[in-house]
Amino acid sequence: MSKPRQDLAGPPPLATAAVEGEDVYMPIPTFSITCGNCGRDVGAEVVWSTLHTSQQSLQQLANQGGAFGPNEALLMVCPVCHDACVRSRNGGLVNPPALPSRDIANLPPEVAIAWKEARKAFAGGAFTASEMMSRKILMHLAVDKTSILAGESFSDYVDALEKAGYITTGLKPVVDQVRKRGNAANHELPASSNAEALMTLTIAEHLLEAMYELPGLVPSPPTTTP
Ligand SMILES: [Zn+2]
Repeated sequence: MSKPRQDLAGPPPLATAAVEGEDVYMPIPTFSITCGNCGRDVGAEVVWSTLHTSQQSLQQLANQGGAFGPNEALLMVCPVCHDACVRSRNGGLVNPPALPSRDIANLPPEVAIAWKEARKAFAGGAFTASEMMSRKILMHLAVDKTSILAGESFSDYVDALEKAGYITTGLKPVVDQVRKRGNAANHELPASSNAEALMTLTIAEHLLEAMYELPGLVPSPPTTTP
């Protein structure tokens, strides 16, 4: 899982700015993050900080190597998606936070929405909401890929996936852990910790890869003309 990095980028890149009709090179202070908007690892341009509120002082800071202190709030712009990120003073957390895991190809639209929502909830610290979405994905997979019908219990859906061979030997111990918690329905799910939500998210990730993404890598058979 990728996490926002708090270390600084290397030497800040140079940008051109016109001063009194002449082009001069002025350094742009940057801060190394995983952008929560586009998911890329970038050196985001710092356009404001708690202690250095004027452009001049930011550039002076960049000239000195861009050493932002751990308790400074930063407003940054991503050079890839040009959206904004903010680093808070308390704990240095970056918002929007980078999502855990990754986009998975070939998902049905409703599963893709649920997968993104599970990741967003986890990134925002809403671990119970994230686990509920991951469990919803597991139930959807069972209905989509096995003969089980909607309206059964959560453990029945997991059993159906296991009987159909989608729960591999390596996944069984962690799947059993998830099955033991809140065995029937989402309203019986106890509050989830970071580790518990991540476990269910990881199971969902593996199953989505195996059931949708990897089959999509198989080339289509060549079409033959009569
Ligand atoms: Zn971005």
